[in-house]
Amino acid sequence: MSSGTDSQAQCSTASDPASKSMDDIMALCKRRGFIYPASEIYGGINGFWDYGPLGAQLKKNLRDAWWTDVVMKGCNGKLGPDGKPVSIVPVDTSIIQNPKVWEASGHVGGFNDPMVDCRETKNRYRADHLMCMGEKGDSTGQIYAFIENDDKSFANALKKLSKYKKKDIPEDGVDICSLTELGADELTITVGPDAKEVGTLTEPRAFNLMFPTVIGATGDIETNKAYLRPETAQGIFINFKNVVDTTRVSVPFGIAQTGKAFRNEVTPRNFTFRSREFEQMEIEFFCHPDDAKDWYVFWRDWRMAWWQDLGLKGDNLILREHDKDELAHYAKEGAGTSDIEYKFPFTAPGFGELEGIADRTNFDLKQHAEHAKTKLDYFDNTRGELAKNGQPKGERYLPHVIEPSAGLDRGVLALLCEAYTPDPERASGVYMKFHPRIAPIKAAVFPLVKKGGMPEVAAPLAAELRNRFGHLGTIDYDEKQSIGKRYARMDEAGCPFCFTIDGETLDADSPNHNTVTVRDRDSLSQERISIASVGDYLAEKLGL
Ligand code: ATP
Repeated sequence: MSSGTDSQAQCSTASDPASKSMDDIMALCKRRGFIYPASEIYGGINGFWDYGPLGAQLKKNLRDAWWTDVVMKGCNGKLGPDGKPVSIVPVDTSIIQNPKVWEASGHVGGFNDPMVDCRETKNRYRADHLMCMGEKGDSTGQIYAFIENDDKSFANALKKLSKYKKKDIPEDGVDICSLTELGADELTITVGPDAKEVGTLTEPRAFNLMFPTVIGATGDIETNKAYLRPETAQGIFINFKNVVDTTRVSVPFGIAQTGKAFRNEVTPRNFTFRSREFEQMEIEFFCHPDDAKDWYVFWRDWRMAWWQDLGLKGDNLILREHDKDELAHYAKEGAGTSDIEYKFPFTAPGFGELEGIADRTNFDLKQHAEHAKTKLDYFDNTRGELAKNGQPKGERYLPHVIEPSAGLDRGVLALLCEAYTPDPERASGVYMKFHPRIAPIKAAVFPLVKKGGMPEVAAPLAAELRNRFGHLGTIDYDEKQSIGKRYARMDEAGCPFCFTIDGETLDADSPNHNTVTVRDRDSLSQERISIASVGDYLAEKLGL
């Protein structure tokens, strides 16, 4: 779900994603080994991406930050609305589950996107992503279509409309409505976003997003059909009772997991933003129904602050509370649903969803209890009326669930877009300003030149740093090419610190004997520190 209004438009600045070119960002991702098209040597496969060496580490760093801060440190030690530490435990559940799981969750029956096909270009679009426009006050109902949140396709559609009407139509001279709001008879005059002819779009049809598969070597699709999971959440719900019975958790508590999810998206696009295979980081937080509102607000605000701490700051990140009519049917009774949205270059001046926080009420536990014919309610011995001995008698209930559900790939994409910083003063022309915690390369060690005993000092220093920081990311060692080229490569990789061993390091008569230079990626400043203090220096900069 994405939003975008003119009032959200910002003037372009260096850190404003609207001023950054997605083509340039994708080119850097390819050039430096962050992200490649999947199956590229076979011509690619639409909606799938492979992470290269830098991308794999960047993604791991983001996943690890989430795992550490949310799961292991229980929201970094922030107390919950009940004044107690937040309790969360992890699970890692199967991608393929009994297909009844997806019947109970509503995915088999209802996980449908309305889609339209373009007869001319054979492209397929999500109907809820297509907006229709026609000339204001035109009663003939001539309708043209373009993709939401996309200035280029708006401009194209305007041009086509003007050509069709044989006159210039001003930008504010058109009415816009959602394609899904129109009746079928009104759809007779359409122009697909990429079509030359009019009337090329079909009526919207339902399209199930689940990827089916077959279990067993001899299975036929109908009797042995299963699905790749479209979200990680259901693996958590179906293990709620297992976790309660086998660990010492008590409500309120959360269960978390990260992992792949698969959706046969109608129109995968915008790089990794909408892919058919992606990774989620989800928490299902179980609480008493009376406390759902407080926990919803807690999670919503804490998740927003977490993304901000990783560097998605300022006007590029917004928290958007959903209107009632946007809510999923089960969420209508809940305390609320909101999205944390980032202003990606392809959505600017609008925003695209990074994470959704929803009060799912007891919908999922109720569905699974009914479909699996099992009890999933929880006995809470801290609640209920007081007995004669002054102790609560206990209360049995189905917990409500607050779900902060984040996309790992979208998180990585937002960090890439935010980090991308053009700088014509640099040899590379651009640098990646990652938060040091997230940066895939934590530091680089260079001998100024490959002689004079410098490599003999630099290589052991790199090995020492690798030993100490290797679990956090790469420590690069490079002795080839000029120092300027090596710095430029590190700028594009987003390496925050480069340590260089030079002649003075080795010169016993120099006041700089046994010191190295540290080059700061962002300020480009260089200072000298003692070689013995490099490890502690880096530890401090990485916030360890
Ligand atoms: P959208 O409206 O963009 O399709 P959604 O509301 O269906 O997203 P959820 O089902 O709430 O998304 O999934 C939780 C998170 O998973 C999203 O916030 C997003 O970050 C991520 N996600 C969902 N679909 C995709 C996709 N096709 N590609 C990459 N990430 C995705």
